[in-house]
Amino acid sequence: MMKTLQLFLWVISFFAYTACSSGTKKDESTHKQDKSEDTEHQVKSDNNANAHWEYSGEAGPEKWADLCPAYASCSGERQSPIDLSSSIGDRTEVTLERTYNCISGIEFLNNGHSIQVNVTGDKPNTLTVNNQVFELKQFHFHCPSEHTLDGVAFAGEAHFVHVAENGEISVMGVFIKEGAENEYLSHIIPFIPENTGDKSEITDEICPGKVFTANDKYFIYEGSLTTPPCTEGVNWFVRRDYIEASAEQIEALKKAMPAHNARPVQPVNDREFGKLDE
Ligand SMILES: [Zn+2]
Repeated sequence: MMKTLQLFLWVISFFAYTACSSGTKKDESTHKQDKSEDTEHQVKSDNNANAHWEYSGEAGPEKWADLCPAYASCSGERQSPIDLSSSIGDRTEVTLERTYNCISGIEFLNNGHSIQVNVTGDKPNTLTVNNQVFELKQFHFHCPSEHTLDGVAFAGEAHFVHVAENGEISVMGVFIKEGAENEYLSHIIPFIPENTGDKSEITDEICPGKVFTANDKYFIYEGSLTTPPCTEGVNWFVRRDYIEASAEQIEALKKAMPAHNARPVQPVNDREFGKLDE
């Protein structure tokens, strides 16, 4: 009986193999579904590590993983953003300490996907997670928010991207809700580079620390970059309290970015996540 079954499976796999092998030279008998598409991917991307991607259409989020081999992580199991639940449990094993300084004369870049402030200066802005030091490299914006809270998106989300010496990444996400004018953003918005590829210098002094308070609480989980190459292993800290910005300020951010530059929420899968007090 077993032999018959084995033979049956062999015959099935043989025909399946021959049916899919005409366009490729691969000799594996698994993952055949992928093979017929390989050629197409290579034509589109030419193995380019920086294949063009967008927030909708042919190069939209559902297609990112297929655009080029370097974006394969975009179909991974531990991706960001995710839907956060206000009822999740606490995590107490993580310690978080921020040391942010005020800065001026820094670069503001419109990269076509977002508007991004590149943080430089003599005094590093650091985030220390369990004694590991991460340096703030840039912050940028999404409208609407990428993470959602109990299924609902906010008007916007700012991402503060920190990198450790070993290349590990920690991102702090801050929800932006429409409301009162935001003083911090009022020193940034006048310098927005309007069009893709534009750069400007923020001559006002800005203080990233003003976005946070000493008693902040965070949603914490392990995820990924929310844009290609969707690298995993990113430590996420999403601030539980939103900041407010006026309708005009949110409009100014949106005007300089692609409409809806937010990746859809990804499956949580088998991940530990929880709340954290700073
Ligand atoms: Zn982001």
